[in-house]
Amino acid sequence: MAIIIDGKATSLAMKEELKGKIDAFISQTGVTPGLAVIIVGNNPASAVYVRNKENACAAVGIHSETFRLAEETTEEELLALVRKLNADEAIHGILVQLPLPSHISEEKVIASISPKKDVDAFHAENVGHIMIGNYHFLPCTPAGVMALLERYGIEVAGKHCVVIGRSNIVGKPQAMLLLEKNGTVTVCHSKTKNLADITRQADILVAAVGRARFVRADMVKDGAVVIDVGINRLADGTLCGDVDFEAVKEKAYAITPVPGGVGPMTVTMLLYNTLTAAKESLK
Ligand code: NAD
Repeated sequence: MAIIIDGKATSLAMKEELKGKIDAFISQTGVTPGLAVIIVGNNPASAVYVRNKENACAAVGIHSETFRLAEETTEEELLALVRKLNADEAIHGILVQLPLPSHISEEKVIASISPKKDVDAFHAENVGHIMIGNYHFLPCTPAGVMALLERYGIEVAGKHCVVIGRSNIVGKPQAMLLLEKNGTVTVCHSKTKNLADITRQADILVAAVGRARFVRADMVKDGAVVIDVGINRLADGTLCGDVDFEAVKEKAYAITPVPGGVGPMTVTMLLYNTLTAAKESLK
């Protein structure tokens, strides 16, 4: 049976380390790192993510402010709030919880966040920094995957890494980060032909598709490392990843569960980015 990569335990250990770093930063500088989280509308999943972020900030000593805006909030009202937070010295990171209601342009809102406070690393300027390998922030979910690989001693260099999914928030940046670590990277997506032939070549397989149990055991090479980014809610309310965990764990060398794998790492990386933003604000 595979090694189960424990994202919950890893993120707890990383948060403990971070708390020490934040305490030291506050006593050296007198500055408390601050994160503003904006949520628009009543998406229940988003509400849970935002509460998790508030609790995680409190646990490590980050000052957090949450702005809960009504579904009818106009784009201009949201942009005005972002502008205000861009200028607020107590706030070092700004996160706008996605998705936004359809009458608001996510692109415009992301572009309005100061790149120095863009702790999600979605702003085109930060995406560009990642492309050239010279960055302050990494997008939280792919960065969480890289932290798990590192902490479990899984070497990326020279490995064939297959990423299923090409979204701007997971698949594309994940591919860039694996490439930066000298992996040989293949990106697959909804138009990819003969997907299973490609995934079976993967030494490291990352699934970021959004379809429950999409990756079956026959799509995985013996001894592969399988990272499941997917979060899917089944009809009975339980959560399930993009990978058929029970079957694939019998074949893989190591695998992340859902829940308790990549998910907890995402919030942890956001906290690290907020400390980085606070440090950078003093330079
Ligand atoms: P998305 O819908 O933006 O992208 C899905 C990708 O899957 C697309 O690029 C698409 O080309 C690809 N795809 C769809 N059908 C396919 C098929 N049949 N074959 C191959 N590729 C196919 O989703 P996303 O925002 O990248 O999220 C992906 C999953 O990760 C979702 O389940 C989401 O909930 C989850 N997620 C988890 C975290 C976390 O913290 N763990 C963070 C972000 C997203």
